[in-house]
Amino acid sequence: MGKHLHLKLLSALEADGLGIKHSQGWYPFIAFANAPEIIESETKMALKKLIAGNWKMNGSRAALAEVTAISVAASAIGHVESALAVPATLIAPAFAAAPGFSIGAQDCHWNDAGAHTGCLSPGMIKEAGASFVIVGHSERRTDNHETSAEVAKKADAAIQAGLLAIVCVGETDAERDAGKAVAIVTGQVRDSLPGSANGDQLAIAYEPVWAIGTGRTASAADVAEMHGAIRSELVQQMGDVGHKVRILYGGSVKASNAAELLHIPDVDGALVGGASLKADDFIPIIKAAIA
Ligand code: PEP
Repeated sequence: MGKHLHLKLLSALEADGLGIKHSQGWYPFIAFANAPEIIESETKMALKKLIAGNWKMNGSRAALAEVTAISVAASAIGHVESALAVPATLIAPAFAAAPGFSIGAQDCHWNDAGAHTGCLSPGMIKEAGASFVIVGHSERRTDNHETSAEVAKKADAAIQAGLLAIVCVGETDAERDAGKAVAIVTGQVRDSLPGSANGDQLAIAYEPVWAIGTGRTASAADVAEMHGAIRSELVQQMGDVGHKVRILYGGSVKASNAAELLHIPDVDGALVGGASLKADDFIPIIKAAIA
């Protein structure tokens, strides 16, 4: 159920005296005919936000102190999940430097093993200490010509190995200018989805390509439109599970814009590049998710 319908039902409850107010809105009396729908909507609204950092090809052992600092500060922040996708060489040391903190990889192969020089399987990543993997980042779609069909296979394999798969999608500047952004992105979502997943195994990261590392961010209205469209596509493809899949926004998220972005409907977290490299930049973003 969409946010607008949710609000409409809540207003109806208020007008009819059929609800009871609590700190975040109205709860219906149990006998109200639409109660299951409303409760489902309340559940959907309660998705715990995920703030994931993506270090890309940055960081050496000298940067492990930042991983530790981030994990220590993040552990004191409740009601939000945080995570760091580090270069593959740092997965095991980062896991050791930040016990209990969620460390991830930035890519994986879809096969378990075999003749794929330079690649890592989801099982290898997991064994090194990763609990999640980013797949289909636009830099890989561009630099390595990865297709959505390959991204779907990677997401599938990651989930089979017990990892959370964060599937990235996003339109280019030219696609947005041509008015095709929503069609392109919902098409990428559809074609990049794994065969099956539950809400804990999959997240989607909407990252407009033109906003990554550029200092430009999408407007709140554009983010709301796109996240709503992605949610609809997820529900169409996955049924109710689609309500439980977190949709992250990515693209020049920083402390100064995080609160606004993270409070847009259907924004269930953020994928953060440059601003995740230092605890001083990343921790305020994690805090913004609960403010
Ligand atoms: C990213 O790499 O996923 C990203 C969003 O980068 P940045 O935050 O630096 O734009």
